[in-house]
Order: sequence, then C-alpha cells, then structure tokens
Amino acid sequence: MISHLGPREAAPRTVQLRVDGLACGYGNGLVLRGVSFTLERGSFTGVLGPNGSGKTTLLRVLCRVLVPRRGYVLLDGHDLSRFPRRELARRVAMVGPDWRPQFEFTVAEVVALGRIPHLGPWSGESPADRRAVERALELTGTGALAGRLLGSLSEGERQRVMIARALAQEPSLLLLDEPTSHLDISHQVQVLSLLHGLTRGGVGGGGLTVLAVMHDLNLAAAWCDRLLLLHEGRVFAAGSPEEVLTPEVIRRVYGGEVLVLRNPVCGSPYVVPALAARSREITAASGARSSRVG
Ligand code: ADP
Repeated sequence: MISHLGPREAAPRTVQLRVDGLACGYGNGLVLRGVSFTLERGSFTGVLGPNGSGKTTLLRVLCRVLVPRRGYVLLDGHDLSRFPRRELARRVAMVGPDWRPQFEFTVAEVVALGRIPHLGPWSGESPADRRAVERALELTGTGALAGRLLGSLSEGERQRVMIARALAQEPSLLLLDEPTSHLDISHQVQVLSLLHGLTRGGVGGGGLTVLAVMHDLNLAAAWCDRLLLLHEGRVFAAGSPEEVLTPEVIRRVYGGEVLVLRNPVCGSPYVVPALAARSREITAASGARSSRVG
C-alpha cells in the first residue's frame, strides 16, 4: 500500500496527471512518440485524432495495460509504474468500448464489481461498499435498472451502467474510450452532461478528472475544458477548444477543408465540413434546376 501519497481530494486546478516524453508501442514498432501533456484535477479533457493516431494506446498506458518505452507518467506526483495494482485501481478507472462480462450479471452486480479494489482478501462487502454502489447507481440514473440483466439493456443504458461501475471504484481519474459511440444524440448529451457534472462536483462527483477519447469534434468542443489532438502518435495541438479546433489544424490533421462557426447554444467552436456544405448547395441548386425543368 502507498499510504504516503496524501489525500485524494486535493484543491482544484492542481496537476493530477503529468505525461512527459512518452513513447510506446506494440512489438518493435512505436505508436506514441514524445507525447507530453498535463491534466488538471477536476478537468474534462477530450482526446481527439484520426483513426490510428494512438488515442486508445494512450489510454492503455494511463491504466498501465501498456508500459512506456521512454518518458514517464506521474499520477498525483508519483510514477505510475510504482503504484501497487490495487492502489492504482482505486485511483484510476477505465470505461472501455466493449467490456462484456462472461456471465449474465444484473446491473447491481456489475456495478458492485467496481468495488473489488476496495475489498480486503477475506472481507465481504462493507456498508461503505454498498453506499458507493448506491451512489454510483444514483449519479448515473441507473438505480431503476439495478435488477435487470446487463444483456437486456439498450446501448445508452449499458453505457451508463459501465460508467456507474467505474464510479463505484471511487477513482479520482476516469478514462473513457469513446463513451458516446453507438449512442443517439439524446443519450450522447446525457452521458456528456453526466461526465461534465462529475468534474464539477455538481452531481455529487466532487471534482473527478475525466479524460475521454471522442470522435465528434463538436460534442467535444461543447463539453470539454481542454482538447488533446493526436496525429500520427504525437500531440499535434492541445489547449482550449478554440485553440485546437481551427480550420488550419483540422485540415492538417484530418485532411479536409472546414468552416469553424460558433455553436449558437454554448458559444464553443462548431466545425462544418466545407465540402459537404458546398455539395449540399450544389444538390439544392441542381434540385431547383431540375424542378424548373420538370
Ligand atoms: P486510435 O485509438 O487513435 O484509433 P490506436 O491506439 O487504437 O489508435 O492504434 C494506433 C496504432 O497502433 C494503429 O496503427 C494500430 O493498428 C496499432 N495497434 C493498436 N493496437 C495494437 C495491438 N494490440 N497490436 C499491434 N498494433 C496495435
């Protein structure tokens, strides 16, 4: 046990995670090269980048599934590689894209799995464990599903249960790999506002730090405090949504022309593919022409 690491609830706006000069890969190949960034406690950061740019690989390093070849990761000021596994699992939780239990579990049982890092070798569930599970169910609005089998849920419900399981772990850093993929727009907003609320403590979360891989630039811009844009295994841009989502950056990373407008609801950058806008104009114009002809 590391007991000298200090309290988990530190003041907001301190650096919780520092990644410096990270290089990592599979076999002999390198995927991430010279990746450096910091995460402030209680912030919501979106990891963006084209397919294959190394987003999932980065999450794998941060939950120590992969070991860095070079560079280091400091969590709460301590080298990630030196945390005992159980202590790490109390601090960092991961919601992956396709975790499925091998057996049919109820929602309550799945969420209770999040307590495993807190259980002693011979001890059963304590009142604190039960409270943490109840709180996770409540925060994610999944209490009414507690008795249902995981396999019977919709994608949106399942995703909220996966987040509940991670919250039952009571981590201080939550990593998510594409938490809104396969969700319709209303469930996307539900999940993102839940994550945002957890970083603010506004739904009882108490300043969780969230790092989420996302594909939708506009949702990321609307909900995240900071964006980290990866390109070919390197950090191409990092900063506020306004700093990262510029037409020039998007053209160089994604290879397409875009317009960056302003989201009329929240004022964040709003990216529109210029080509799509033009082709719709062309379609509309040719539709008007053909209707005149007909
Ligand atoms: P992203 O999440 O941005 O799509 P990934 O981190 O999944 O990117 O992948 C980055 C690169 O690493 C890709 O070229 C991918 O093929 C490779 N890669 C990912 N996982 C493995 C693996 N288990 N073994 C070998 N190569 C992998």
